[in-house]
Amino acid sequence: MSKRDYYEVLGVNNGASSDEIKKAYRKLALKFHPDKNLNDKNSEERFKEVSEAYDVLSDQKKRQMYDQFGHSANQGGFGAGFGSTAGAGGFQDLFNDVFGDFFGGQRGRSRDPKRQRGADLRYSLNITFEEAGSGVEKQINFMRNRSCNTCKGTGSKSGEEPGMCNQCGGSGEVRFQQGFFAVSRPCPQCQGEGTVIKNPCSVCRGARLVSTPTKLEVSVPAGVSTGQRLKLKEEGDGGPQGGPSGDLYVVIQLVNHPLFERQEDDIVFEVPLSFPEATLGTEISVPTLNGTALLKIPAGTPSGKTFRIKGKGFPHLGGYGTGDLFVRTIIDIPHSLNSEQKDLLKKYEAASISSHGETPLKKDFKEKIKNMKRTT
Ligand SMILES: [Zn+2]
Ligand SMILES: [Zn+2]
Repeated sequence: MSKRDYYEVLGVNNGASSDEIKKAYRKLALKFHPDKNLNDKNSEERFKEVSEAYDVLSDQKKRQMYDQFGHSANQGGFGAGFGSTAGAGGFQDLFNDVFGDFFGGQRGRSRDPKRQRGADLRYSLNITFEEAGSGVEKQINFMRNRSCNTCKGTGSKSGEEPGMCNQCGGSGEVRFQQGFFAVSRPCPQCQGEGTVIKNPCSVCRGARLVSTPTKLEVSVPAGVSTGQRLKLKEEGDGGPQGGPSGDLYVVIQLVNHPLFERQEDDIVFEVPLSFPEATLGTEISVPTLNGTALLKIPAGTPSGKTFRIKGKGFPHLGGYGTGDLFVRTIIDIPHSLNSEQKDLLKKYEAASISSHGETPLKKDFKEKIKNMKRTT
């Protein structure tokens, strides 16, 4: 069988521009497309012929060789010849090159969009220390894409089921034969669904999904901390073609507490004590996550001393037991005193010096100074 001239196959003259060649190929490829001419051997042959001609004439180098040597350039002896570079991938690229813009580009699309999941969503939930300590039920309000009520998720105006795609005959796939290679890809007309919407729904415009306000009750367990995620299965966006819904991730954000600081499951905070309270000792009431606790301050408590109240921290998430509450003392020095207070303090100081009563740190400090003088 003698081969037809490539220019003749595409119906262009020898000096045709690459644009003219592309246009001619597009027209003929559509006409002889195997999916438009099911079981038509002649069309299939023409489609191959047209594709081969385009493969050569669209490539600057190949075209030059063909112009010089004709079909003999493809019979070996000239390197790889024409056909070999257009393997499955090559042909795919070729097809995309010509039809990509035409069909809106199909790269990266799932091969089976029928089973595509909806998107996972993320919701940032603020909770207080107290709520995290006890666990809490929270109502959240957010938007997600869900099946359109107007068209019952069909995407069609009248609510009718979509009709069969006539390009792929409902299979959702189109196949080409290119030399030895069978190439199949999702049908560009129906995006692989096998069906097409003839009168799109006016609300979702055929998308089947609409942005829907949603209210959900979220059960937050006791002991959660910032950054932890609660997964709510299938509470995300609906699947684009009736596929399963994505998940909703509720991300916990603990709001800063005015007093408490969290360290793992422990709570730490500072409590101010007056000088008499710290020296004479006292009992104070301190706040906890769920109320108050009594804390005994022994006589002679220094600034910076930490007391532990067991079991008053956060519950361990998903485990047994709880963290502790740590209370650090800070001696509260007054900024200004009235004359009565000053007199009393002066008397106190005089009494301290005349008695044996050195304070512990001062005693220690004097001891160190003495040692310094001996060694120098
Ligand atoms: Zn189709
Ligand atoms: Zn709709």
